[in-house]
Amino acid sequence: MIARTKSEALFARALACLPGGVNSPVRAFRAVGGTPFFVQQARGCRITDVDGNEYLDYVGTWGPAILGHAHPKIIAAVKAAAGQGTSFGIPNPHEVLMAERITRLVPSVQKVRLTNSGTEACMSAIRLARGFTKRDKIIKFAGCYHGHADSLLVKAGSGALTFGHPDSAGVPADFAKHTLVLPYNEIEPLQAAFAAHPRDIACIIVEPVAGNAGLFNPKPGWLEFLRQITATHGALLIFDEVMTGFRLAPGGAQERFGITPDLSTFGKIIGGGLPVGALGGRADVMDHLAPLGPVYQAGTLSGNPLAMVAGLANLDELAAGDYYAQLEARGAQLEAGLRAAAGSARVAVTFNRCGSMFCCYFTDQPVWNLDDALRADRERFKKFFHGMLAAGVYLAPSPFEAGFISTAHGEAEVEMTVKAAARVLKTRV
Ligand SMILES: *Cc1c(COP(=O)(O)O)cnc(C)c1O
Repeated sequence: MIARTKSEALFARALACLPGGVNSPVRAFRAVGGTPFFVQQARGCRITDVDGNEYLDYVGTWGPAILGHAHPKIIAAVKAAAGQGTSFGIPNPHEVLMAERITRLVPSVQKVRLTNSGTEACMSAIRLARGFTKRDKIIKFAGCYHGHADSLLVKAGSGALTFGHPDSAGVPADFAKHTLVLPYNEIEPLQAAFAAHPRDIACIIVEPVAGNAGLFNPKPGWLEFLRQITATHGALLIFDEVMTGFRLAPGGAQERFGITPDLSTFGKIIGGGLPVGALGGRADVMDHLAPLGPVYQAGTLSGNPLAMVAGLANLDELAAGDYYAQLEARGAQLEAGLRAAAGSARVAVTFNRCGSMFCCYFTDQPVWNLDDALRADRERFKKFFHGMLAAGVYLAPSPFEAGFISTAHGEAEVEMTVKAAARVLKTRV
């Protein structure tokens, strides 16, 4: 086993001054046991910790690093922008370029508001949908994560799910009572909800591919159904593309599945690794935001020049090569390899994937929603996680997180991953 002396010492110090030793819960490794490593630097598809251990990384800072870590064009753009000042609190040209870029790549988006995180973007999109429709109720799906705003922390995914409190303490029941939580991929519960509250539902918010409870894909026709039932009832359809945006296609999941939502939220890739978020959509809806309209939304650092240039460099490079085909090919290679490895080790695995996002559930049943995901074997996942880590492959430290492939993952790296998985599945899981 590789030494982690420096990481362990840092974690001990962190525990004394940061709750749980971290600034975001999943990082604490509690779902898998053990203690986290501290990163010294990351380049391409590899991360090096403070003890000098190197890992092949399938987290990619949870999505932004689609070109791999420390892409030279992003680093150069951030350095150049920093030389001109780090924040102005008054308009800068990069915000306009970013908004123009998003509207060009995502045709459903006519206007954009930039924020500092995906959480802020989703929180603001919900407020906007409520202000626009003058309705209070919202629909979300169990296992979907839309950041940690009060009304969205109900049956939430990601860390909330990993640590067994998908319904957070500190959210008054009076706030959460307007949030209707339904199962992903089902139709009847939605029909029943709209029948029970025909004029009260402001919006449906959905991850078009659910990537915060592992990963499950939308069943064919389900997203179309969401589009149709919201239109029928005068509710808005919000696609939370914080994870899927600019990853599953240049125009995100909505391009891949051919759906036009009313509003969308973004983050991760459009910040190139700096803090960012955005909401956007129909101009008539977006114009309800302050200063034009009555729905308040603001941010001292929103449209921050460093975040804008980093995100623009990410999007520029993504447009410059045949990257989406490459990501698809690497995803297919990983899928085929892991399925074969699980088969020959006789370990029941359901491997879900969409493009460069994937998840390995230890179950012999298909996974289409949160209940299915919860039936997977978490003890086996722990063993798999630690076996892979010891083999130098870093997967997300929770059975309820997706994995991410970047353009820096070559055929050889994926092959190495598959070989490691074959060994770990046979001997440790
Ligand atoms: C990451 C994520 C968020 C939250 O974004 P933060 O920048 O972490 O606040 C919201 N929705 C989805 C789908 C996400 O994956």
